[in-house]
Amino acid sequence: MFSSELNPEQRLQALSALAHEEFDILVIGGGVTGAGALLDAASRGLKVAMVEARDIASGTSSRSSKLIHGGLRYLEQYDFKLVREALHERELMVATTSPHLVKPVGFLYPLHEKYKERTYVGAGLALYDMLRGFQRAMPFHKHISQRKINQIAPSLRPDIVTGAIKYYDAQVDDARHTMTIIRTARRHGAVVATHVEVQELIRNGKKVVGAIVRDLLTGEEIKVTSKSVVMCAGIWSDELHQKFGLTAGYGVTMSKGVHIVVPGSAIKSDTGIILKTAISVLFLIPWGDKWIVGTTDTPYTGDRAKPHATDEDIQYILDQANKVLDPQLKREEIIGVYAGLRPLVANAKNSTTTKLSREHTVDRSAPGFVSIAGGKYTTYRVMGKDAIDLAAIDLRRLVNDSCTEKLPLVGADGYFALVQQVSVIANEYGLAEATITHLLNRYGSMISEVLEIVKSDKKNGQLLDSTLPYIKAEIIYAVTHEGAMSVDDVISRRTRLAFEAPQAGLELVDEIASIIAPYLGWGAKEKKASINEYRTQVEAEVEALAELINS
Ligand SMILES: Cc1cc2nc3c(=O)[nH]c(=O)nc-3n(C[C@H](O)[C@H](O)[C@H](O)COP(=O)(O)OP(=O)(O)OC[C@H]3O[C@@H](n4cnc5c(N)ncnc54)[C@H](O)[C@@H]3O)c2cc1C
Repeated sequence: MFSSELNPEQRLQALSALAHEEFDILVIGGGVTGAGALLDAASRGLKVAMVEARDIASGTSSRSSKLIHGGLRYLEQYDFKLVREALHERELMVATTSPHLVKPVGFLYPLHEKYKERTYVGAGLALYDMLRGFQRAMPFHKHISQRKINQIAPSLRPDIVTGAIKYYDAQVDDARHTMTIIRTARRHGAVVATHVEVQELIRNGKKVVGAIVRDLLTGEEIKVTSKSVVMCAGIWSDELHQKFGLTAGYGVTMSKGVHIVVPGSAIKSDTGIILKTAISVLFLIPWGDKWIVGTTDTPYTGDRAKPHATDEDIQYILDQANKVLDPQLKREEIIGVYAGLRPLVANAKNSTTTKLSREHTVDRSAPGFVSIAGGKYTTYRVMGKDAIDLAAIDLRRLVNDSCTEKLPLVGADGYFALVQQVSVIANEYGLAEATITHLLNRYGSMISEVLEIVKSDKKNGQLLDSTLPYIKAEIIYAVTHEGAMSVDDVISRRTRLAFEAPQAGLELVDEIASIIAPYLGWGAKEKKASINEYRTQVEAEVEALAELINS
């Protein structure tokens, strides 16, 4: 067993391993797909490394709707196989692989008519429940009368909502979950380095035998030798295929999806709500004491690293939600906004290299080079398995089967027992029970490592801000165990302060920088640089948001 920690010292060791060791597989990209491939390979006993150009999950994998779902809308397209696969993955995550991170969430599907619609939607949801087979981590759907809706979701307009059907899916903090998959892969021996970008491939004749990567923190270039390279670059796939001079059997276009975050008081409902729109669906998702509402779906061609919401995006979300809400959502209630880019895969006609799947595409455009894109967060594990199955051809030896279906992520072991000991743990450490529950839902059994930090200094048990659930020990843990290397990493992905706190967490920036500085070996200069980096990145966004809200 290896340590699952991610921190600056581990990163230096990873850079040394990248330079001096030979790998079976090198994974490009630390989003959820790359994380899935990394864990799949490591747990098969392969020697595997991952390089991520920025921070873990800094691309699409921190900007999703954060739902682990079968995809109700695929039922309308009769894509039962796809829905069944995603529902199977949902069950695995809730019950086995990551119950500490993936939680059931109920949704009301409001009805506007008494009989026909109820029969149609009811049949769809019965099928949705049936497609998960005999797995039962989540309750069945149920029909709700109009009278009951007034109690469960008083914000739904009684003049147009005649009843509802309640069904269940699951939700997750996507960036935290992706990081936890990567920590699990580390536990099984994977080498991981963030802020390392692949520049070009190394070839021996036509075969790809590694890559030249650059450490973006020092500028140093490293030649990595690997029998196979697996690219999981999402929306960067086309750009990289072109850079590497490879013709893939598919192309990736981008579609932007925006979410807004509003306080809990803005929508009175005990449960989530799904609304059918002309083009797709809109989710009103409970998120702690807040709501995430989204999403949009518009073609995008701008900067891949910095998608922004526009006035139209926000107006669309408000208009759709306000069709059924009373009181209406108001612009000035918006606390945060985030935008993400969906990697949409279009397969090239007559491709001989591509293994087609409706949801994701796996491609081997050269010996020693596999790429995978598309799909959705929910099916990351299957995507990881498919990519490594195809890459195994280039290892020219028998490779073990994937075992990730039975592999709990770090923190999952003992989680259910710990949930029953909340008050005991709270007493032992002098923390509120709500804090222990919050910690268990973020770290599972690794809560013991966070509590060690509290034990070493009681001050670390204090809340970072009285209106938010995070304690100071979590900020330290983000850099000592979770690979955060900047203020941005901590605010945007290890915590979700970037959209949970007012002003994108700008008021907390100095304190967070002071907490992490000693653990990252920062002097005053590095601390200031990291603060300024976050401020510059966010001030423009906060200003734009203020304009949007006031327009
Ligand atoms: C608005 C929105 C809502 C969504 N909601 C859901 C949902 O509720 N449920 C669901 O199941 N799915 C959802 N999805 C889909 C899901 O989020 C994506 O399918 C998934 O996150 C894609 O992950 P990925 O790893 O393929 O890509 P990414 O997360 O983008 O990862 C690619 C990584 O590659 C890295 N990279 C690029 N170039 C290089 C290089 N040269 N060297 C090293 N690294 C490099 C990037 O920095 C990036 O981190 C949603 C998507 C969007 C946009």
